[in-house]
Amino acid sequence: MEKTLGWDLHCHTVFSDGTRTPLQLVQEARERGLDGVAITDHDTAAGWTEAVNAARGVGMPLICGTEMSTHWPLSAGKISVHVLAWLYNPDGRQLVELFARTRQRRLERARTMVANLARDYPISWESVCDQAKEGGATTIGRPHMADALVAAGVYRTRADAFAGVLSKRGPYYVSVETPTVTEAIRAIKDAGGVAALAHGGSFARNRVVLSDDQIRACVDCGLDALEVNHRENSPEQRTRLTKLAQRWGLLVTGGSDWHGQDGKPNMLGENSTDVPTVKEIARRGAIPVV
Ligand SMILES: [Zn+2]
Ligand SMILES: [Zn+2]
Repeated sequence: MEKTLGWDLHCHTVFSDGTRTPLQLVQEARERGLDGVAITDHDTAAGWTEAVNAARGVGMPLICGTEMSTHWPLSAGKISVHVLAWLYNPDGRQLVELFARTRQRRLERARTMVANLARDYPISWESVCDQAKEGGATTIGRPHMADALVAAGVYRTRADAFAGVLSKRGPYYVSVETPTVTEAIRAIKDAGGVAALAHGGSFARNRVVLSDDQIRACVDCGLDALEVNHRENSPEQRTRLTKLAQRWGLLVTGGSDWHGQDGKPNMLGENSTDVPTVKEIARRGAIPVV
């Protein structure tokens, strides 16, 4: 069998912090010759309907999913962890409650951060909301604050704003309270979805990453896969995660974490998942691949 480009199972659109619509996502996936693509916006399934219609129109196979923000609690602080959830039933009760809770907390956090920033910079809640391309369907976050700061002339680019006043180490930053990793995985499995630990070897987000024992605890909750192939996982971490996947019989996936060209440098399909693995994900999922 000829080797194909595979699937990009980790992509964001304007329904969270991406800069492209679901239609642009499937069109670009098609242009790049991918076998298929997944929509995985942060803590929401709001883009699914648009993505399904676009995928059917373009003739591009699609997996519906979400990237959930979660954490592993430590005695001092926490490890921020992202979990990819594919092909879950969007009516799953536990998940619906978790999403609603996280979105509410994100909204409260965004309002607090914008109020803090507005004391020193010419932005307002209204000017930040104006940057959300999908209005009420989007969860307002730091990218929108960054865009409002750029629109107000405070910074030249979104990246400058992130490195500046929006920095996690800055005085304006407020963290979001998220569910625990194990709570999220249980909810995904309750909804019949397939769960993967996203960029589990990334030191770009945490000083420590999940230990072998902590990942094992996730497996015991039903974790299906490890996203080994992601630009933020170092070669050493990829080797480590691959070994863990082999030891515990987990699927190995890859994704670009695409946000559209204006958002981040990630190119669609720069990391991908092979077709046999996607077939297994499809077999385990509660809803069909489009
Ligand atoms: Zn992530
Ligand atoms: Zn992501």
